[in-house]
Amino acid sequence: MTYDPNNIFAKILRGEIPCHKIYEDERVLAFNDINPQTPTHVLVIPKGAYASFDDFSEHASEAEIAALVRAAGKIARDAGLAATGYRILANTGRDAHQDVPHFHLHIFAGKDLGRMIKPAEK
Ligand code: AMP
Repeated sequence: MTYDPNNIFAKILRGEIPCHKIYEDERVLAFNDINPQTPTHVLVIPKGAYASFDDFSEHASEAEIAALVRAAGKIARDAGLAATGYRILANTGRDAHQDVPHFHLHIFAGKDLGRMIKPAEK
């Protein structure tokens, strides 16, 4: 998947469209999902131009990877989610229905999330 600099998260990073910011540092931005699936639904993205988890895990620097993981954990802790629990998800590519081609982690929380994922129709 080649990186499309006009994807919606690239526009958010450039400040061309607004977001409800939850966290920001040199390498990471996190904001509320515009269409939340759970009471808490935060998106955590690297500032670097990575299209997917596949791209990020292969090409990002150790510092970028560490920053994203540290930030996701801190966001969850600071929101008080560590006590009750949360789920992190990274849709990657077609079969996972990745809609926005800029790598992002979803953080879902705020209710019982059920076990794992619902099986898709075969
Ligand atoms: P995915 O299917 O994993 O690519 O998820 C993309 C997510 O981005 C969806 O949950 C959308 O609701 C969310 N989304 C799309 N546009 C925006 C936006 N402008 N601000 C915040 N979240 C967005």
